[in-house]
Parts: sequence; structure tokens; C-alpha cells
Amino acid sequence: MGPQPLPQVAALPPYVPGKPPTPRPGLRTYKISSNENPYPPLPGVLETAQAAAAEMNRYPDMGCSELYGELSSRLGVAEDELAAGAGSVALIFHLLAAFSGPGDEVVHAWRSFEAYPIAVAAAGATGIEVPLAPGARHDLEAMAAAITERTKVVLLCTPNNPTGAALSHAEVAAFVERVPSDVLLVVDEAYREFVRMDDPVDGLALRRAHDNVVLLRTFSKAYGLAGLRVGYAVAHPVVAAAVRAIAIPFGVSTIAQAAAIASLQAEDMLLERVEGIVAERERLVQGAAAAGWTIPDPQGNFVWLEPADLPGFLAAGEEEGLSLRPFADEGIRVTVAESEATNRLLALLERIPPPA
Ligand SMILES: *Cc1c(COP(=O)(O)O)cnc(C)c1O
Repeated sequence: MGPQPLPQVAALPPYVPGKPPTPRPGLRTYKISSNENPYPPLPGVLETAQAAAAEMNRYPDMGCSELYGELSSRLGVAEDELAAGAGSVALIFHLLAAFSGPGDEVVHAWRSFEAYPIAVAAAGATGIEVPLAPGARHDLEAMAAAITERTKVVLLCTPNNPTGAALSHAEVAAFVERVPSDVLLVVDEAYREFVRMDDPVDGLALRRAHDNVVLLRTFSKAYGLAGLRVGYAVAHPVVAAAVRAIAIPFGVSTIAQAAAIASLQAEDMLLERVEGIVAERERLVQGAAAAGWTIPDPQGNFVWLEPADLPGFLAAGEEEGLSLRPFADEGIRVTVAESEATNRLLALLERIPPPA
């Protein structure tokens, strides 16, 4: 039969990427299935990336020294508290591989980011999936209760992908107190730039106060660099060193490093774009409510719908040139992007009755 993968590898749940829309003659289509930024790169960022491409015969700077320097001065953290990766997904894999293994437990909410169960299985650890509370929010009470002496890592995703609800700073600060100091608490802040709630999570304050807290951030969403694969962790130097030690050498390309730095330097313009997406989101929330749909308070660049007829809703979206992202038979995640996509989604929500 030949070589066989480990049983946990054979059993891995697949990561399902968002589908591109089916082409419709005469109709512009929108891919709103992957929480991508709809805007093309800013001119300065694109030119910087193009210039960096001229060095593709050389390995990248493995130490990401310029990127660490830029992040360090912006965030007010030391460079040895940073670890960059090929997207924050890579950092999730590295953290779990470095801090958990066979016999260990990793507590996380479910439904949440679909990369978590894959990374847990890849580390050989056991995932403890804690069902979401009403409002599609993390059930922090149940998550605290799920921590045992076998727990090595707890993952929080705020705002939660795919349901959109976010935790408040007070909630997370109270939760940290219930996590033993030798258990790693990962706060996945992939959508932090889109949060507009009262008392938003101040990840850096949590990190400063607790050596077991790790923040995960990415250039893929608000900064629009999903295709280049770059994200970073802010962590205690011992944790950051473990991530760097286990990472695949040269994982963050020269182009990605250069574009990330250029994006930080163009942050004002990028955050203006984020403001535009937040305004679209508010329009969507109000229109959905007016049409009678109840949706969890969306704090990322996406909303969560639970239509009664899920395949029917997806098909209606396809008809309108919208590629949406279903999650089993639980719900549909819709990325907030161009205004015309919002218009079409609102028309669908007005036409299709909300679940009883
Ligand atoms: C998109 C996303 C990430 C980051 O993905 P990368 O492109 O690998 O940086 C991390 N966590 C969550 C919850 C996400 O939705």
C-alpha cells in the first residue's frame, strides 16, 4: 500500500476556500466569500512590492529586521516580542506546534476560524470546542470551565470569524484572570481595525499585563495584502522566540516584507478605506434589520446570516452575481465590500423572508 500518513493527518478537516463567483454574462460579479479587501493596492505599496521583486534571486531577510523595526516603534514593543509569519495562519500553526502536542488540550470556541481545528490536529493535540453562546459570541464562562490541567493553549477569536461578534476589553481582561499563567492565551485580532464597539479589546494592554497572552495580527484584511502572506505575533520574548525557532526558514518573502512596511507607512490612507467598509457594514446592518433579519453584531468586514433555506439563499446570491461562503448547514458569511454588492445583498434580504 505504500507510506500512510498519520491517522490525525488522514482525519484532518479540510480548509474550504471561498469560491469565486460563477461568471454571468452582462452582470458584474462579486467575490464576497473570503473576507478580502476589495480595494487594489495603493500605488506606493504596489511600486515598493514591484521594486522588491527585482531581488527574487536572493533569499529574504530571515530576521525580518526592517519590518520588526517598523512594528516595534509603532506598537511600543521590543523587537524580540515580535514574530512574523506567512500570514497569521502560519503563526497559529507554529504556536500550537510549539506549545501543544499529543495528550494536550487546546480550548477554542466553535463555530470559529476553520484553521483552528486543522492546526490543532497538525500539532497532534486535542481540540476542545466550546459552542458559541446566544448572539454567536464566545461563551467565556464555558471556555473557562473547559480549562483543565491538560490545557496548553486557549484561542480567542475577536471579532469571531465567521459570526462577526466581538468581545469587549472588560470581558477578555476578566477571562485572562481565569487562565492559568502557564497556559498560552492567543487573541486572534485579524479584524481589529474594523471594530467600532464600546470598550474594544486593547490587546497590547493585555499583553503588557500578562506574559501568557499572545496577539495575532495580519496584513491580509484591513491592509489588503492577503495574496502576499504576512502577519505577526506580539508575545513575551520566550514565546516569540519559540515561534521563530519552529517557523519554516525564509517563510515571509522579500516582497511581503516590503509591502507590509509600505502599508504601515500608508496606514492613514488604508484606514480611510477601512472606514468606508465600516460605513457599508452599517448600511447593511440597518437594511437587514429593516427587512426583519436578526444578525449578530458584526465587528469585522463580514456579516453572518442564518437563512431558513441555506442552499436556496446561496443559489439566489449566485443568480445576483454574489459568491457567498456557507458553513455546513449553520449559516452564511458575507464579506462587506463594494457598494453594489451591498445593494444586491440588501435586495436579497428584502426579497427572501427571514427565518421564523
Ligand atoms: C483571515 C484570518 C486570519 C489571517 O489570515 P492570514 O491571511 O493567514 O494572515 C487569522 N485569523 C482569522 C480569524 C482570520 O479570519
